Amino acid sequence: MGKIDKNKIEAAIGLLLEGIGEDKNRPGLKETPARIARMYEEIFAGVCENSESHLEKTFIVENNEMIVEKDIVFYSVCEHHLLPFFGKAHVAYIPDGKVVGLSKLARTVETFCRRPQLQEQLTHQIATAIMRHLAPRGVMVVIEAEHLCMTMRGIKKPGSQTITTVIKGAFADDERLQNTFWRMVKM
Ligand code: ZN
Repeated sequence: MGKIDKNKIEAAIGLLLEGIGEDKNRPGLKETPARIARMYEEIFAGVCENSESHLEKTFIVENNEMIVEKDIVFYSVCEHHLLPFFGKAHVAYIPDGKVVGLSKLARTVETFCRRPQLQEQLTHQIATAIMRHLAPRGVMVVIEAEHLCMTMRGIKKPGSQTITTVIKGAFADDERLQNTFWRMVKM
C-alpha cells in the first residue's frame, strides 16, 4: 500500500502552476501547493487504506431478505483527469446467513472513492468486496454520477449522468429480484 508524501504533492503543484504559465509566488497562489497537499491527504486517503476493512465484522442472521442501502452520496476523483465525479451509489445484497452493520456499506463505498478511480471499477470493487466478505446469495450495485471531465470540458453536457451496474449471483439469474431492486431504488 502507498503512503501520502505531502512534500512531493506540494512540489508537483508548484510545477503544475509554472507549467500552465502562472506565477506560483503571487499572493493568491502562494499557499495553494500546501493547501492542496493537505486536501489530497483527505480525498486520497483510501489509497493507503484497506477499503474492505469495514466488511470484516459480520453478524449471523436467520432472515435472508434483500437488504438495500440506497442514495449513498459519494465524491471521487477520475483517474484519467484527476477531476471529481460524484453522485449516488445504491447497494443491495441478499444474505446467506451473514450481514454487516448498515453503516458499513456506505463506509465501504467511501473508502473505495478516496483514490483515483473509474466509475466502472468502483462499482465492481464494491460488489466484489461484498461477495468476498459476506458470501451472499446475490449482490447488485448501481452508481449514477456526473463527471466533471465530461461536463466542464470536452463534450460539455452539464448534468449528464453515467450509470454503471454490477449484478451478481441470484440477482443475475432472477429478473424479479432485479425489478424489486429498481422499484426500491426508484432512480
Ligand atoms: Zn475523466
